[in-house]
Amino acid sequence: MEFQKIDLKKTHITEIFRIEDLQKLQDAFSKANNIASTITDLEGNAITEPSNHSVVCSLIRKTKKGLDKCRKSGRTLGFMSLEQDQPCYMKCQGVGFIDAAAPIVIGGVHMANWLIGQNCIGDVDEDRIACYAEEIGAEKEQMLQAFRRMTVISIEEFKKKLDFLWLLANQIAVLSYRNLSYKKMVTLLENSQVRLKEYKDNLEKTVTQRTRELTQALDEIKQISVRDGLTGCYNRRYINEHFPKEFRRAKRYKNSISIIMCDIDYFKKVNDTYGHQCGDYVLKEVASTLQLSFRKDIDWVGRYGGEEFLIVLPFTSIRSAVIISERLKKAIQDLTLEYDKEQMSVTASFGVSGMDKWDLSEDLTWEILLNSSDIFLYKAKDAGRNRIEFGPAIKN
Ligand code: GH3
Ligand code: MG
Ligand code: MG
Repeated sequence: MEFQKIDLKKTHITEIFRIEDLQKLQDAFSKANNIASTITDLEGNAITEPSNHSVVCSLIRKTKKGLDKCRKSGRTLGFMSLEQDQPCYMKCQGVGFIDAAAPIVIGGVHMANWLIGQNCIGDVDEDRIACYAEEIGAEKEQMLQAFRRMTVISIEEFKKKLDFLWLLANQIAVLSYRNLSYKKMVTLLENSQVRLKEYKDNLEKTVTQRTRELTQALDEIKQISVRDGLTGCYNRRYINEHFPKEFRRAKRYKNSISIIMCDIDYFKKVNDTYGHQCGDYVLKEVASTLQLSFRKDIDWVGRYGGEEFLIVLPFTSIRSAVIISERLKKAIQDLTLEYDKEQMSVTASFGVSGMDKWDLSEDLTWEILLNSSDIFLYKAKDAGRNRIEFGPAIKN
């Protein structure tokens, strides 16, 4: 799968082979076969350093003419190899030695040429050497001496070495390419793993965040469903559900419990004089005053009706509830109320009832307690308002 992902046409040979490895291999090959060799890219640029150069060729390449011809020859050979995609050889365009090229082909793409030569002399003899030395202006005697010392191989021998080279080059190419593919695949897998982990982390973060938002939303919904929209006090539904529970708990453990029924005096007048909106404003202010005055998580206040509030005080004697009521009465009376540049004040009446000694009242119910506070509230109203009336819960 991954083999197709490497675009070999866009891959340079140096990405597939380590040049140091190629150089070592080329040096060893040249030494073992007593042959000169070098590897070039398709444009004829050297990829490796030449190995085992013959002295004759070195003398030729020292002259400008000789070097030009040698290079031109190399390019022609490379071009031949590119066209044929298989090993090929030809007489060099300089002195006439036989040169050969083994194409390095990977995945069907011709990527480089491995050139060998310089000691298969073909039909070159001393006359030709002398003649060519003169033609290019090289040191004739030195060239002849070097030529005589050359280890010469036959064309058959040369072809065998070329075939061996071709096989070797392509085996190395295939293996190196496979290595590259695996390396790329491993990198791809590692990257995928990193991305997968990032994705997982993000997902976990999102889930945590969403869960938090949902829990928050749920809490808000719960609050909305038990709170009165205008005043923020608990609503009638909450009172109906929780007051009986609170009462039963107090009764079971024989703890004292008191309640305060608080009703704003002459509230209708506020509405009639300043309008319903102003009435709402006053209701909110009074509710805030009540809510601020209690023990957190123990006492609570609910809106029992229009301008009537129920305050529940567990573990509280009637006497303490009266003291609390006194404080509330004063706080409401002292409220600075201003609406639409109109200043006003309100008062409230309080009916306090409760149960201090359970032993004497086994048949007391929450309904009786509620009713008692209501009775005391009406007593306070009858007695002139802005007052507190109180007493133990009793059946009437
Ligand atoms: P009392 O001293 O005897 O309690 O007299 P009151 O005028 O306070 O009592 P009454 O029962 O005659 O009137 C209560 C008024 O409260 C009537 C009603 O319109 C008003 N009210 C009830 N709920 C709301 C509310 O949510 N907003 C406003 N602005 N007024 C309300
Ligand atoms: Mg009232
Ligand atoms: Mg009322």
